[in-house]
Amino acid sequence: MKAICPICQKETEWEGNRYRPFCSERCKLADLGRWASGEYRIAAPSEEDEEKETPGQPDEEALSDEDSKKGKNGNPSSF
Ligand SMILES: [Zn+2]
Repeated sequence: MKAICPICQKETEWEGNRYRPFCSERCKLADLGRWASGEYRIAAPSEEDEEKETPGQPDEEALSDEDSKKGKNGNPSSF
């Protein structure tokens, strides 16, 4: 069985892996460190897989979501 390491996103063996769900002790520690430091993002071990997640602009997303909703519903007056 394979699992994806939540830290480095690498595929890792699940069975017999004492560090699961991480691929290695390194990633396990990295995860602990993340929580310990209070922010769940830290320079990933290597990989630049998770590009620097910009601290979110939920506003923008919410807006565009609403926009699309409006668009779908359409305004009744247009009929
Ligand atoms: Zn890993």
